[in-house]
Amino acid sequence: MGKALFWVTIFIVVIFVTRLLAIQAAKKRRPPPQAPSKQGEAPANSEAMVRCAHCGVHLPRSEASLIDQNTWCSTAHAKLGVRDRD
Ligand SMILES: [Zn+2]
Repeated sequence: MGKALFWVTIFIVVIFVTRLLAIQAAKKRRPPPQAPSKQGEAPANSEAMVRCAHCGVHLPRSEASLIDQNTWCSTAHAKLGVRDRD
């Protein structure tokens, strides 16, 4: 039984390493089409902007909180709720 578990573990590790290598190979083969960023961090100019439903500030989607079908700049504004701006 212990031997079977050992081989299953080896199998999972091999699959995991193979996938990691495949992902890295794919990244090398297909560099970003425009503006080669060195570390490939958060493509700032391609990220969707969303609006805080309370204060109306625009911020990147990854930095916004999505609560109750609305986007918020912070959890504090999510608690305050939607504010209509005239
Ligand atoms: Zn806000």
